[in-house]
Amino acid sequence: MKTFSVFAALLVAVFSKEVFHGHQVLRIVPKDDVQMSLIKLLEDILELELDFWRWVAPVDVRVPSHSLQAVMTYLESHNIKYFPVIKDLQVLFIFWVRVNFLSFSQIYSFQDMLVAENPKLVSKIVIGQSYERRPLNVLKFSTGGSNRPAIWIDTGIHAREWVTQASGVWFAKKIVTDYGKDQSLTAILNRMDIFLEIVVNPDGYQYTHTRDRMWRKNRRPNRGSRCVGVDLNRNWNAGFGGQGSSRDPCSNIYHGARAHSEPEVTSIVNFLRSHGNIKAFIAIHSYSQMLLYPYGYTRVPAKDDAELKQVAQKAVTALTSLYGTPYRYGSIISTIYQSSGGSIDWTYNQGIKYSYTFELRDTGIFGFILPANQIIPTANETWLALKSIMDHTFKNPY
Ligand SMILES: [Zn+2]
Repeated sequence: MKTFSVFAALLVAVFSKEVFHGHQVLRIVPKDDVQMSLIKLLEDILELELDFWRWVAPVDVRVPSHSLQAVMTYLESHNIKYFPVIKDLQVLFIFWVRVNFLSFSQIYSFQDMLVAENPKLVSKIVIGQSYERRPLNVLKFSTGGSNRPAIWIDTGIHAREWVTQASGVWFAKKIVTDYGKDQSLTAILNRMDIFLEIVVNPDGYQYTHTRDRMWRKNRRPNRGSRCVGVDLNRNWNAGFGGQGSSRDPCSNIYHGARAHSEPEVTSIVNFLRSHGNIKAFIAIHSYSQMLLYPYGYTRVPAKDDAELKQVAQKAVTALTSLYGTPYRYGSIISTIYQSSGGSIDWTYNQGIKYSYTFELRDTGIFGFILPANQIIPTANETWLALKSIMDHTFKNPY
């Protein structure tokens, strides 16, 4: 027993300088909009140091031990239902942190190795540098031609969503393995290119490995504030600064000083603009098990709403066929919450019709701390949905 606790203590010391002893993740179940707005008020009380994992009902929020009593009292005084989904976050870390999740440098070595082993199919493009000057790598899967119509896939724009970067690695490997074997993938790659950016937010990702597993934003220091980081999925020039983003640099959904202020975002923007022939843009997040399409910043339906919905339905059916994982789908604003300055709203407005975002597993049992043994099943099922969207894009040129 003693050995175990020494070992556990060591793990904590090594893996998580920011510790989460006694932090609980509460699931709060508002019964109406009034209760929902009462919950949202909590977010503005910065001293509570709440970390919202899910902004849509039921709301999941990480509550540090020092705020637990205050939050519970508040909820009870308003008759708002809640229960803990994770009773002590640190216990989860002790058992699951880092096992089989690759570090930033391991992913970058993997990318170089994949290119070295498959020079005819894969190449690496560096589209820019992060704020802390890490290269922003994109893998290009191509069988020839020049400036072919292409599909963009990205993972890891939010640092702590580790199952996404892990799935990105798996997708890269899968494309190389299945080209020439899988009929539909082969047909796609014979006419189109696939671009895959596995670590959109390398500074944040590195930080989740060394300092704070729960980090979401990039690592830009904000002028005039003690708080660091911009939410890279609120920084795009689509409804920038609107509802579902924050002007407070200490917020986890801080939109940044201006649209496209962050190098991790501008690098993609510049790449997409100079390429000019991207036909599908798929941004992968976790968690919630949803497949979403524009818009997030406005209730006005996208002009391709009906087709986007039909493609989403087909993709979700493919995904669910593997293990029965339930998925919801719809526009961002009608399915999850209003969010402004998101990537797929911007790409859609640029004319990339098939703009989608995934929220991978789970629905909150583990949240961002999804155990590593779920990486492969998650990637496997998601791949079926990706292929379905890619196939539709391939068969419906525009
Ligand atoms: Zn995310």
